[in-house]
Amino acid sequence: MRVDAINVYHVAMPLLYPWRTAYGEDVAIDSLLVQMESDGICGWGEATPFARPEYSAEWAQGAFSLIRDYFGPYVLGTEISTAAELQTGLARFKGNYFAKAALDTAWWNLQSKRQNTPLYKLLGGTSNVVPIGADFGIMDSIEALLQAISDAVEAGFTRVKLKFCRGWELEVVREVRRSFPCLRTHVDCNGSYTLEDIDMFRALDSLDLEMIEQPLAYDDLVEHAKLQQSLLTPICLDEGVVSVRQLKQAIELGSCQYLNIKPGRVGGLTCAREMHDICKAANIRCWVGGNLESGVGASVAVALGTLENFTYPADIFPPGRFYQEDLASPPVKFGKDDAGQPVAIPSDVCECPPEPDGHRLGRLTVEKAHVG
Ligand code: MG
Repeated sequence: MRVDAINVYHVAMPLLYPWRTAYGEDVAIDSLLVQMESDGICGWGEATPFARPEYSAEWAQGAFSLIRDYFGPYVLGTEISTAAELQTGLARFKGNYFAKAALDTAWWNLQSKRQNTPLYKLLGGTSNVVPIGADFGIMDSIEALLQAISDAVEAGFTRVKLKFCRGWELEVVREVRRSFPCLRTHVDCNGSYTLEDIDMFRALDSLDLEMIEQPLAYDDLVEHAKLQQSLLTPICLDEGVVSVRQLKQAIELGSCQYLNIKPGRVGGLTCAREMHDICKAANIRCWVGGNLESGVGASVAVALGTLENFTYPADIFPPGRFYQEDLASPPVKFGKDDAGQPVAIPSDVCECPPEPDGHRLGRLTVEKAHVG
């Protein structure tokens, strides 16, 4: 296909309540939406690097400028037959995976429409539902967290993820394990610890967690390997793996036993799928993560989650969990499987995938640009 036009939007989506992690507090999620057009057909993509370069070195305003000034003009008018061709072309630009992901996911959704094939089938997905988990940021009290987890268990969730940082750590996890001993539980440290915290990690190791997500620095693989050797609990990398090369190095070093794959962080679906395949061959377990994307990005994550090596419930959230109103319409579909476990359901043939609602997009747009 030849790319005839690209529209890029920087949006700020207000949250129902602040999202608190080791990085700080967000009251809105800054995201990028890209509309790619070819032969009169449009596909949408999304990537959510957040407002400030705290989760990664990227941020929404910077990624917006990159697409408007460099990536968009480079792709415009180009014949792109495969997603690999798009990635090869963009590889001349270093890093900046979120900006690339916004274009990559738009290409995949456009290709899905052109071929009249659901995105999950185009990716090679083998499941028609994706089990999802429940996530909890840092809360005002342990009691409030226990109540929220109790509500999630009542709703059928079988795994929870707890944000974890200094001041909200061992005591919180011990209380959760005591109250819900059978619930699959893991913690996400967002890279806020060092090897000097080994005693704390050894204490955490005794709490029978599914995994410890990104305990050490975002750009480290070697110290994660050292920590993994000291612990029985699997380490999961998130921020620490943004490219296939890094993943291969992490596997060689023994830095992780789990990988959280977020299409936005790794440059889009093309790389996410390749990472899934590499992990499968190396016996590394995978799960789909997210950055509180709108329904556009969430539907991409659902399609990815239908691949066979995604064996741990995904971070994909039902409408109303974080936003009063989703930017996209129709909403991502959710349901329950036969065991009562909440699942997300991929868009199927003849269904329009979630795309930005024009009115809401206008209201939430910070800046927009047309490349064409
Ligand atoms: Mg994480």
